[in-house]
Amino acid sequence: MSASPSVSGKSDAAAAESYDVAVVGAGFAGMYMLYKLRGLGLSVRVYEQGGDVGGTWYWNRYPGARCDVESMQYSFSFSDELQQEWDWSERYAPQPEILRYANHVADRFDLRRDIQLDTTVERAIFDESANAWSVTTSDGNTVSANYVVLATGCLSNARMPDIEGLQDFKGKLYHTGHWPHEPVDFSGQRVGVIGTGSSAIQSVPVIAAQASHLTVFQRTANFSIPARNAALTPEEREAIRAKYPEIRRFAREQARNGIYTELPDRGALDDGDNERRSKYESRWARGGLTFMSVYNNLALDKAANDTAADFVRDKIAEIVRDPDTAKLLQPTTHPIGTKRICIDTDYFATFNRPNVTLVDIKSHPIERVLPHAVRAGGRDYEVDALVLATGFDAMTGSVARIDIAGRNGQTLNQKWAEGPKTYLGLMSAGFPNLFIITGPGSPSVLSNMIVSIEQHVDWITEAIGWMRERDLVAIEADKDAEDKWVAHVNEVAHSTLYPQANSWYMGANIPGKPQIFMPYIGGVGAYRQICNDVAAKGYEGFAMSAAPARRAAALSWVSSFS
Ligand code: NAP
Repeated sequence: MSASPSVSGKSDAAAAESYDVAVVGAGFAGMYMLYKLRGLGLSVRVYEQGGDVGGTWYWNRYPGARCDVESMQYSFSFSDELQQEWDWSERYAPQPEILRYANHVADRFDLRRDIQLDTTVERAIFDESANAWSVTTSDGNTVSANYVVLATGCLSNARMPDIEGLQDFKGKLYHTGHWPHEPVDFSGQRVGVIGTGSSAIQSVPVIAAQASHLTVFQRTANFSIPARNAALTPEEREAIRAKYPEIRRFAREQARNGIYTELPDRGALDDGDNERRSKYESRWARGGLTFMSVYNNLALDKAANDTAADFVRDKIAEIVRDPDTAKLLQPTTHPIGTKRICIDTDYFATFNRPNVTLVDIKSHPIERVLPHAVRAGGRDYEVDALVLATGFDAMTGSVARIDIAGRNGQTLNQKWAEGPKTYLGLMSAGFPNLFIITGPGSPSVLSNMIVSIEQHVDWITEAIGWMRERDLVAIEADKDAEDKWVAHVNEVAHSTLYPQANSWYMGANIPGKPQIFMPYIGGVGAYRQICNDVAAKGYEGFAMSAAPARRAAALSWVSSFS
């Protein structure tokens, strides 16, 4: 196989380009996949619907957007030169800097020549006789590829809420997950924000500082921990770089969530009230996602979880001066951490500003959007601009948009109609040579995404390399292995408190979506070990086969003896 595309069998129609691998998406997953597959000498074409690389960081440009995993960890580890040379400016880099980093990676590793931008993959059909995928893109082209890798991202399918009258709104309408590329200035404007998830929690303080008035429409209050973001000094960067071998190894092998931190060895109820409070205080002061790893049973034991939830509720009451507003902001509908915990800069304090109003749309639902207002609970809230921070069709949404047909013409949407089914989150039975990066059934969104992306890409690359050494051309998840894995993912999820929340992890934010806990909760270290063991056992649970010609030769050799 060559490192450049071949043009095979010119028909009357256009010549079909063929690649070893077609990759869908040029975010961090797609770019690293391309880099690794090139290392095997394969021809690769990456299709990206956006106008540039970066995936979710290309689209999510809303005010205040930044990562919630510390940047020195939310970054690639595969190249020591890269991690040594890139200077992150802040503890949590803002979106423009993460996008610059994505662009730097594309340039530094000369990735762009194999990435086709502004191109959506519309269809991928498996041709069983050719053992190849036929991939059709929005530019009208169809190419053939032995393998397809879905690097489509978990949170890239912005969801417009089904609110009556939205189309009649005459002011400026924005979605946090699909933000304009030009700067948006809310100065002097009355702005409404619908939603109070991570995107709103990051953007509300920034918008409030610009707007003449900000109205936040809250359906469900959320837990949020202060980020304690700050500039990184050269000394801090150097100290982390010097420890990178240990930090990266821990994140890959030992951490549950791919983040370097102390592993808790006690449950919350093992400590007395004072000791527990002082530990929560110290994590609150430190800031960030590791608040949840102060004890080892916060995701498992409701009574333990209540102690952390009460602590955060008390903090909200301390910060927010108006007791009624504070009460509304205190989450009560789900255990802390069972929806993705948010981290913020001054979110709760923003509600002390005279130009900010919180509207409880749980008890007074939005009735409709009017040309210049939002009507909720019989009252019209006038706005010049409306920001929808209403989230994503997470994990499966971007895959479902592609018309994917595997063996016997079965589509992936048909197969996943009652919820996604995968073996290890990597493949789905009936869809040979189709890999998913950070798909449902893998730790994915419960982890530092870059750690999980690197692990999946490395695993897929090794699997394809292993097959090539043995002249094998097809790999497919075994249905039994898949069923067992789906049951295991489900069983682990239900041994925790996570399913108690109506979260996007469960698909609960999309009306009609099957409510299945999608990511694998077992932890990235344990999951990596399982994937490594499967590979070491000759890809146990995957069926692999040789090319038809080779199979025919093997069969005729066998029959000559019979
Ligand atoms: P989200 O967590 O799904 O939050 C959506 C919000 O919109 C919720 O408050 C939801 O209320 C509300 N909502 C949805 N539909 C509504 C409707 N029809 N009417 C009224 N309210 C409605 O979405 P997100 O904030 O964009 O975050 C999604 C995920 O992206 C995060 O969990 C995180 O993993 C990732 N993210 C990360 C960062 C970061 O820090 N790096 C930043 C942003 C996002 P209900 O809760 O009642 O459904």
